[in-house]
Amino acid sequence: MNRPGEYCGLCGVIGSRTAPSALAAEGLLAQQHRGQEAAGVAALTDNGRILLHKRKGLVSEAMADAPKALFDGSVKAAVGHVRYGTFGGDDILNAQPILVSMAGIPVAIAHNGTISNAGSIRRDLQRKGHILQTGTDTEIVLHLMSRELERNNYNMRRCFDIALSKLEGAFCLLLLTPEGMYAVRDPLGFRPLCLGRIPEGGWVVASESIAFSMTGAEYVREIGAGEIVFFSGDGSRPSVARFDGAAELFRSGDGLAQCIFEHVYFARPGSMVFGDSVYRVRLEMGRRLAREHPADCDVVVPVPDSGMFAAIGYSRESGVDLDMGFTRNHYVGRTFIDPTQAARQSMVMRKIQPIPSAVAGKRVCVVEDSIVRGTTSITRIKALREAGAREVHMRVSCPPHRHACYFGIDFPQQDKLIAHDRSVTEVARILGLDSLAYLSVEGMLSCVGAHPVRDYCTACFTGEYPVLPPSDGYPGKEEP
Ligand code: SF4
Repeated sequence: MNRPGEYCGLCGVIGSRTAPSALAAEGLLAQQHRGQEAAGVAALTDNGRILLHKRKGLVSEAMADAPKALFDGSVKAAVGHVRYGTFGGDDILNAQPILVSMAGIPVAIAHNGTISNAGSIRRDLQRKGHILQTGTDTEIVLHLMSRELERNNYNMRRCFDIALSKLEGAFCLLLLTPEGMYAVRDPLGFRPLCLGRIPEGGWVVASESIAFSMTGAEYVREIGAGEIVFFSGDGSRPSVARFDGAAELFRSGDGLAQCIFEHVYFARPGSMVFGDSVYRVRLEMGRRLAREHPADCDVVVPVPDSGMFAAIGYSRESGVDLDMGFTRNHYVGRTFIDPTQAARQSMVMRKIQPIPSAVAGKRVCVVEDSIVRGTTSITRIKALREAGAREVHMRVSCPPHRHACYFGIDFPQQDKLIAHDRSVTEVARILGLDSLAYLSVEGMLSCVGAHPVRDYCTACFTGEYPVLPPSDGYPGKEEP
């Protein structure tokens, strides 16, 4: 894997005139970049049943054989999920939403993020006799709830609250019960989750607001960190509260830990994330990069597609022309499906090729959003030289990745990160560059405006983790 993967995207719809399941599927389609291994939708009917359809593959493939009942007029709410599966592997059992019967009450859950204390909670549950059906960190939320049912008089909200208070790390959750839909964002707000309203009636919750354009919803706001929002689906406004545990953290006043890498790479440029336009932040990162690290070059070339907006910003600020030095072939498979390094590199070339007439004889400044392992960069830089580039410089719109992420982004283990224990000069030599420079941490944080800079996680760059990493190692590893 040459690019980091995201652990999933969410879309929940309730109270819409158009079938909520259909809108949820459309919202997933707009967030396909957040996970391509599996997709699914759970639908609540007006008689309190929950129907579930999930399959491996892209949304269009997974939903192709969805039963008609999922989309009929009796459905009043739906939660959908796209999965990038690392925690627990890619078995269909680990696809989401997960649907269970809790003492006869149907409950479906979908999750984006990584619960960093999931390993210890799983072991504790197993010691107490719980039989876990999946390898996911998500399933533990349902088991923590079911333990509380009897002593809390089958009050689902109370049981959910208790389960949430035991979780650490990154979790945005959608929970569907016969009462309605809950949306939750963890107290540090690692991953984005936003609220939209459909003007003709109904509410949409999605990881990214780009989903709203597919569902007819208008952006209202981010779901706040530590908030639990309940939608009854009867036309009333959602109720908003803080869940136990979140209140504790807010009292400590330590700030949030919103993932800055959503702005650098993951989120789609058309989205609002953590209250800022991703498009605007990426342009600004490019501008700031140009001020911090000007390059003596003839042309600025973006790496499509993710380096595009930083490259536009770099070009505007530096006054150097932007040109498309690479062309992208949209009709090849993903690079990480091939296991050998040689095959992976040839997949990189099949996907993006240089345009010789745009780069030949020129001093090229390539703008990239990030460098993870470095393998794709090596191949592209070599290809640029073979296409006739006189010099190849690279500017990166975030700092060097030197540390693992435990909060919902699938970076390789840190010794696989090219910059982990190397200087920028060493990385430049390995990549075969004439020069290499990265945006500073301060520069990166100066580009977001909706929150103070202390409200962002930068751990994969700085090693300063906002909560302790899991003691049992890399969160992606399979549980015993
Ligand atoms: S460690 Fe990096 S990728 Fe992970 S949440 Fe923090 S900023 Fe995001």
